[in-house]
Amino acid sequence: MLLREVEYAKPGSVAEALELLAANDGARALAGGQTLINVMKARAASPDMLVDLNGLDELRGIELAGDGTLTIGAMTTYSELMASAEAKARPILGEVCATIADVQVRNRGTIGGNVCSNDPTNHFPPLLAALQAEFTIRGAEGDRTATTDEFFEGVFATAVHPGELLTAIRVPAKGDARDGWASATLGREGTGIVSVAATVSGGNARIAIGCVAATPVVITASADETAVADAVKSADLDPPSDVHASADYRRHLAAVLAARAIRDAA
Ligand SMILES: Cc1cc2nc3c(=O)[nH]c(=O)nc-3n(C[C@H](O)[C@H](O)[C@H](O)COP(=O)(O)OP(=O)(O)OC[C@H]3O[C@@H](n4cnc5c(N)ncnc54)[C@H](O)[C@@H]3O)c2cc1C
Repeated sequence: MLLREVEYAKPGSVAEALELLAANDGARALAGGQTLINVMKARAASPDMLVDLNGLDELRGIELAGDGTLTIGAMTTYSELMASAEAKARPILGEVCATIADVQVRNRGTIGGNVCSNDPTNHFPPLLAALQAEFTIRGAEGDRTATTDEFFEGVFATAVHPGELLTAIRVPAKGDARDGWASATLGREGTGIVSVAATVSGGNARIAIGCVAATPVVITASADETAVADAVKSADLDPPSDVHASADYRRHLAAVLAARAIRDAA
């Protein structure tokens, strides 16, 4: 389906982008367009203006600090994360990117767009929740940061409010942690039915489950496959039922995949 008519602006700075977003109630940021353009074609969203972030180098790039902390610009694509020497400081980032959709989506789609959509089937919300990432949001008042608990507010809703932009994501140093990922998808590299990210450190596991609620469900347990699966079973998950899986099946998958994510981390 063709797009309806829409105004288009390509700002030369983040400040200009913020001005455009603040001045137009119907304006939306355009990153890789891999979600936004599709929902516009389907008429599920109908912004009056697209503010294209693709010319903004301030929002790109991956920096590795001396202590191992990564700062990833919101406009960094999945392909850039996969190819980045710096991002190897937390290899799970590139590994998970490699399982997202196809080459076209990976070349255009951005880490910022992925989390700002907060589609519960997206890969990055649970991954960044497990890694305890921190988000930098810029608005008229300047910069503020949000934890993953604060950032993911609901289905398609985040702490990035109208007139604001996500500028960067900070991923803590790996240290002695080991990270893992397991998911059940619709076909190879397809949409997630349930996804689980895990990080294990000092005998403790932190897991984040995607596709079972509006926002990632975080559970901590001792870093043992059985203990983690038991913790998920007793977590009272209330996942949706749809054409792909019943709520019961998603609950079952969550426990199985949590144990697999722990094994992957090992
Ligand atoms: C065929 C197909 C399969 C896919 N499969 C998967 C999958 O399995 N797993 C997965 O995780 N994703 C999947 N996706 C989605 C893909 O990863 C998208 O790239 C991602 O959801 C959105 O990123 P984007 O850069 O394309 O953002 P856009 O589509 O440009 O934007 C998405 C939303 O975020 C907002 N936004 C973007 N950047 C910012 C910013 N910096 N500040 C504030 N708001 C911002 C936009 O205004 C918009 O509302 C798939 C997409 C397609 C087309």
